[in-house]
Amino acid sequence: MKSLVWEGPFRVHIQEREKPRPEKGEVLVRTRSVGVCGSDLEIFRGGFAHAVPPLVMGHEACGIVEEITEGVENLRPGDRVAVDPAIFCGACEFCRRGSYWQCDHRGILGMQGRDGAYAEYFVMPAPSCFPLPEGMPWDEAALIDIVADPLHAMDMISLAIGETVAVFGPGPGGLSFVQLARLAGASLVILVGTRPERLALGKELGADETINIHEQNPVEAILEITRGRGVDVGIEASGSVGAIHQALKVCRKQGRVMVFGIYSENASLDMQDMHRRELTILGSSGCPWAMPRAVELVASKRVRVLPMITHRVDLEGLERLFMDDVMERRKEGYIKGVLLM
Ligand SMILES: [Zn+2]
Ligand SMILES: [Zn+2]
Repeated sequence: MKSLVWEGPFRVHIQEREKPRPEKGEVLVRTRSVGVCGSDLEIFRGGFAHAVPPLVMGHEACGIVEEITEGVENLRPGDRVAVDPAIFCGACEFCRRGSYWQCDHRGILGMQGRDGAYAEYFVMPAPSCFPLPEGMPWDEAALIDIVADPLHAMDMISLAIGETVAVFGPGPGGLSFVQLARLAGASLVILVGTRPERLALGKELGADETINIHEQNPVEAILEITRGRGVDVGIEASGSVGAIHQALKVCRKQGRVMVFGIYSENASLDMQDMHRRELTILGSSGCPWAMPRAVELVASKRVRVLPMITHRVDLEGLERLFMDDVMERRKEGYIKGVLLM
């Protein structure tokens, strides 16, 4: 089968590979659509610690079940599915606590320990596959993952109705946060970023205020909007260490900051400020318990994902997105790519 293989830092190539075989409890899925993720870019650069080449990336995966194995009861051949990319053992301490996404032996489709969906077929444990509603287009289905991950983060934030939120980073994750925060009852959602076209889209999707950090100091602007109090919650979805500092500064006393981005460097934080103002930092990774809700939110258009898609590509086009720096340099107004097979 045709696959796009990550061969090492800054190298991906299309290769002919053997079709993977599902083991007991797994299913073989024929790939139909895959969201291209910012973490794929981090793997491509060689910055993601758990990814080892050669690797087929692609974890925001959707397709048609082609083959099931012994013990699979929730799926039949022909089912259309989206996946939660976490692969877990079910036996370690964290699995037994119910925190399967923190499994001691965790794998992640297309990222860690298992080839992903930038190929004609991929293999997944059956419980990680979730049925798609009739009629949902494949490009839309590929973005369920970027709603499910922020949804898990929102579960951890437990926003109270009427609280105020600042979202840093108007990428697909940040644009999902804007919509989820509104759905969760936020009275004010501020979106912070650098690219005017992304901020404009954020406004269209429900941000009350947008701040371009090339034009305004975001800390001063947010404190002014909130009359000096600060927001209840800062969500850092850009992967920039500078934005973590800003998110902490714009939080009210006893506020909370969600660390959601993928970071390639460490931050040194003002610990005295955190101590004095009793701030809470939350981390969120993966999308446990979120897939069925994300499917419904996308299907009902409560969360709109189609306006985020700027590039629909085949495998050759995907190779170009990586090798021609389209993603890295955000060329051609790039926001979100989808591989369609
Ligand atoms: Zn992703
Ligand atoms: Zn486990």
